Order: sequence, then structure tokens, then C-alpha cells
Amino acid sequence: MTKPDLLMTGPMMQTIQDQIAQRFTVHKLWEAADKEAFLRQLAPSVVAFASGSHVPCDPALMGRFPGLKIVSSFGVGYDHVDAAWAGQNGIVVTNTPDVLNEEVADTALGLLLCTMRQLPQTDRYLRAGKWLEKPYPLTGTLRDRKVGILGLGRIGKAVARRLEAFNVPIVYHGRSEQKDVPYRYYASLVEMARDVNVLLIVAPGGAATNKIVNREVLEALGPDGVLINVGRGSVVDEAALVEALKAKTILSAGLDVFEDEPRVPAELVAMDHVVLFPHVGSASVYTRNAMAQLVVDNLVSWADGKGPLTPVAETPWPPRM
Ligand code: NDP
Repeated sequence: MTKPDLLMTGPMMQTIQDQIAQRFTVHKLWEAADKEAFLRQLAPSVVAFASGSHVPCDPALMGRFPGLKIVSSFGVGYDHVDAAWAGQNGIVVTNTPDVLNEEVADTALGLLLCTMRQLPQTDRYLRAGKWLEKPYPLTGTLRDRKVGILGLGRIGKAVARRLEAFNVPIVYHGRSEQKDVPYRYYASLVEMARDVNVLLIVAPGGAATNKIVNREVLEALGPDGVLINVGRGSVVDEAALVEALKAKTILSAGLDVFEDEPRVPAELVAMDHVVLFPHVGSASVYTRNAMAQLVVDNLVSWADGKGPLTPVAETPWPPRM
């Protein structure tokens, strides 16, 4: 039996490549010398994409494949895929939710603690031999903090569960109030920023959240305020953040995500009062393997006629008529 054609838009974990190859004929876009000719030749036959975030899955790309039926994307965030367009064109998009919640929440707490207690800075201090001269200066703390979560979703709730154990008051902002959570809801992000001294972002990227943490929000957070971002870099106006950190109109920031990854503004890199992670929220072997398996399982389940396992909201399964 011939296997259906699948386009892999960028390099993916070996286990994904190996498992998908058992069910599909895999075509690797990044290995093509002449990408234009490669895409033209495959256009009539490709029914599935496997995709990381390296290449935007926009109408210009998906629209070249009239038989495309499924885009299986690695990661829970899928802002590199135009899922609304896919839904309108009979293509289901899948992501990898839930299997990474605990890992990303662990990273968020790690980043928060690192930022509040300046833990990476203390490590650098010791290695530079400065402890021999005098103790590290006293730092801020999580003890007197109130945390506002922007994006109390699957990961945001896992973050909140951890914060409860730290005895830290929690409030949240999203587009709508959630009746089944014990935390105060703010309909206005600016108002929440004014009332907290840690703003922790776990919201998705995309047009609706683009730069919603802007100068006004940072001003509301204030000179004692700390910004933590494990959501998407695009949610923050990075230029405004750099300005606020330079002018000390906020205290500090802990960032796992950036506007133009892997490029990080030199001004941020040069600052000692920020903690910067290279987008490692879910990046353990255990969790990445679980995410990889879900990319494969979505494709296999779909190919078996059982439907995808984790379609995104814009492309429900079975499709709306
Ligand atoms: P969910 O969809 O479960 O949660 C997203 C939350 O964001 C919801 O509470 C939603 O609330 C809120 N939200 C969505 N749109 C808006 C908006 N326009 N304004 C305000 N709030 C909004 O997603 P997950 O928790 O699974 O993942 C969240 C994000 O975390 C991912 O999309 C990804 O970008 C990021 N992430 C980062 C990782 C890393 O390595 N740093 C790893 C994994 C994920 P409501 O619907 O009420 O608005």
C-alpha cells in the first residue's frame, strides 16, 4: 500500500521522523536544494504537514496544497499556524496541550525565584571569586509579593497551584472570568498590573495578544514591579520593556521568550537585573518526548480514520458544517 505524502516543514525530533515515516512518505522541506521546485512537485499529493515553529504555516504555504487535510504542530502554542484560515479551508490543526503543563509551570516558578532572589547572579558572583571579598548583597523576595497571572489556562493553573504552596496571593486576567477558580478576576490588564507587584505571563501569542503588555501596563506595574514571561515574546512590547528596565520604572524581569527568537536585544543581555532563559519552558527530555509522541499520535489517529486527538479550538473535530 502506498503511504500518503507528508511535508515536514522543518527539522523535528528523530523519534517523530522515525515514527511518522512508518505511516507516511516524509518530505523534508529544509533539505530541498530548490524549495520552490520541491513544493511545486509535491503540491498535488501532500495531505499532511508535520510542523515546528520554524516555518510559518500561513495561507501562502498551506494554500499551495489542495489536498492538505491536517497540520500536526509541535508545541501547545501554534501562533505560527494560521488556524482560522485552516479551519475555513477544511484543514484540521493539532497541537500538543497538557503534556507540558507541569514542566512549563516548573520553569515559570524557577524563573520567578531566580528573578526575585537573583539566583543566577549569585552563581556568577561566586564563580568570579567575589564571595572571598564580601557576601552577596541582600535581595528581594517572593514573601511580600502578589502575583497577577495573564493567561490562567492549562499552564497558568499549574503555575497557580504551585504559587498556592508558596503562600503568595494570586489574581488573574484573561478575556473572560472563570467561575470555577478561587482567584480574583480583573477584566482590565492595566488595573491588575496596578494591584500586583509580579505580572506573570502565560498567554498565547498571535494578533489578539500582540504587545498587550505595553508601556501603560508596565507603568501600572510600577517601580517595585517584576515581569515574568513564559508565554510568548510577542505579548510584550519589548522596546517598552527595555526602556522601563533602563529607567528603573519597573524593578526587574525574568524572560523565557522574546520577540525575535533566538535574537535577544543586546541591551537586555547587558543588564544584570534581568534573568534570561533561551525558551526552555518545556525543554526536558521527558516532556519533549511526550510532546513528540502527541505529534505522531495525532497523525496516526487521523490516518486511521479515528480523527485527530487534540485539534485546536479554531478547527474542531468533527468539523463544523
Ligand atoms: P490555554 O489556551 O490553556 O491558556 C491560555 C490562557 O490565555 C487562557 O486562560 C486564556 O483565557 C488566556 N488568553 C487567551 N487569549 C487572550 C487574550 N487575547 N487576552 C488575555 N488573555 C488571553 O494555553 P496553555 O496554558 O496550554 O498555553 C499557554 C501559552 O503558553 C501557549 O500558547 C504558549 O504560547 C506558551 N507556552 C510557552 C512555553 C515555553 O517554553 N515558554 C511552553 C508551552 C507553552 P481567556 O480565554 O479567558 O482569554
